[in-house]
Amino acid sequence: MFEIINFSDDDDALLEAVRGHKGKAWSANADIVRYRKRLLELQNYRCAYCQGAIALDEVGHRELDHIFPKSTTKDCGVDKGRSNDDHHRQHTFGYPQFTFEPLNLIVTCKICNAFKKSHDPLLDRSMAYDSDDYPVLGSIMWYYPYSHRYSDHIGRTENWTYTRLSEQGEAVIRVCKLDKAEVLASRFSIRALIQAKRSKNVRTAFTSLAGHVDDKVCSLDQAVDALAGTLGVSEEICEQLIELWLCYLRGGGVRHVEKFESILAAIVFDESLDVENAAEPLAREVEAQPA
Ligand SMILES: [Zn+2]
Repeated sequence: MFEIINFSDDDDALLEAVRGHKGKAWSANADIVRYRKRLLELQNYRCAYCQGAIALDEVGHRELDHIFPKSTTKDCGVDKGRSNDDHHRQHTFGYPQFTFEPLNLIVTCKICNAFKKSHDPLLDRSMAYDSDDYPVLGSIMWYYPYSHRYSDHIGRTENWTYTRLSEQGEAVIRVCKLDKAEVLASRFSIRALIQAKRSKNVRTAFTSLAGHVDDKVCSLDQAVDALAGTLGVSEEICEQLIELWLCYLRGGGVRHVEKFESILAAIVFDESLDVENAAEPLAREVEAQPA
């Protein structure tokens, strides 16, 4: 879980280095890459909006979101760009003055950012916002992780359901579709599938997916589907292996590990299954799919 960005004094130089690019065209330069790494730490390796785990700093897991979009969207006219209606907020004239403002950047999962896109969170958009001063908190219609505590704005249960605790939290839930059960289910299936296909070998596929189930990152059914589909092992065996590892994780003792290893050995030595090579090519397939 991640609550709020808390900088230390040591971060000042990095913030200034990022600001030093003001006026240039956006690029993931070395300062931005350093800042993204630091943000991941400060965010406890969680997406700022959904709290989903961003385990690795690598393409496919995370995005750097501009809270205030950096540029004008295509065909943005005054009718939409100056409108305060929710359904017009994907149209924006942009805020290029904050392109390299570190407090306008936040790390999100790819799925949240795909839904947020160019959503403009300025409360009153009826006038052009030309100031170089970042909008004050009261004029931001969005959960703002540099000042707001997550749990004051968005409630999240262990089972990954979200509740609105403020208007700002409501905006995030609505725009990132955290209230759509079918979207949430597919998010967790995708995470389970990516984890299964990224695993270096069969053993880590099972242990990491069991860890996901234990952390409630995905359900048992989603983990079983992902593993059975990736490895070509029957759903019954996948479920049995995950449950054995879960028992072990929950303090069930070493006998569960012994049983787990013996079933796993039987799978690995079943020559009809190409388990050694199953994960690699499929991982590339998943990465090629849009989030
Ligand atoms: Zn997210």
